[in-house]
Amino acid sequence: MTDQTVALRKLGFISIFPEMLSGLTDWGVTGRAARDELFTVETIDPREFATDKHGTVDDRPYGGGPGMVMKAPILAQSVRKAKTLLGGDALVIAMSPQGVAVDEAMISRLVAHEAIIFVAGRYEGFDERFLESEVDLELSVGDMVVSGGEMPAMLVMDSLIRRIPGVLGDEMSAEQDSFVDGLLDCPHYTRPEIFEGRAVPEVLLSGDHARIADWRSAQALQRTLNRRPDLLDPADLTDEQRAMLARWDAKAQS
Ligand code: SAH
Repeated sequence: MTDQTVALRKLGFISIFPEMLSGLTDWGVTGRAARDELFTVETIDPREFATDKHGTVDDRPYGGGPGMVMKAPILAQSVRKAKTLLGGDALVIAMSPQGVAVDEAMISRLVAHEAIIFVAGRYEGFDERFLESEVDLELSVGDMVVSGGEMPAMLVMDSLIRRIPGVLGDEMSAEQDSFVDGLLDCPHYTRPEIFEGRAVPEVLLSGDHARIADWRSAQALQRTLNRRPDLLDPADLTDEQRAMLARWDAKAQS
């Protein structure tokens, strides 16, 4: 991950509720990064391109049935406007429960793009022809349905922004986070030393940095094997990793 290219600097957010984006741009590390202009976001409200005075962006589905469908021409014009603001080669992502499931490996690929436009759906979703003609990738944040693509898009944008150099600062590092190196993160502790009878693992108080690093690596491995065995094939463990697990397993049992 250290030698990875992060080109991403420009984001686009197409939504009929553009104000929702303040949840990302006003708070925490992503808020600071926005204020420091480590990235820029252009918001586009598809209502701008509505042809009636009510700002209608949806219509009844052909073939009947419940719900409303977001209109293709209005969405296409929104994407074109976003491209004039961000650059014509911006990647266009539509949020959809039917999309590719996003994971940290996907985030690593996406940050190589300088500009990404996110399109948030509402109602029953998008006219299929918009997806075919304007969208490069459909992304899902999990096998559940939420009411709009805004929060799914913001979730992905947050994860992308964390990868931009300077966003996390020196005190934090994306490199130790879960998934980034293919493993879950190790457990963390802070004061007090004893909480409701539970002590902090002795090794963390030892001041022995090599031992602490070794323990954290063993914990990350152990957790991944216990909680998310799908992330790791035990057969792929290196001899060094096996030795590390055995060393700390023996300690835990003694
Ligand atoms: N009828 C659609 C769901 C519409 S939900 C279907 O079953 O596929 C309304 C909008 O919320 C979608 O257009 C999409 O933008 C967003 N959305 C809902 N669930 C999502 C998920 N799991 N991942 C990403 N976007 C989602």
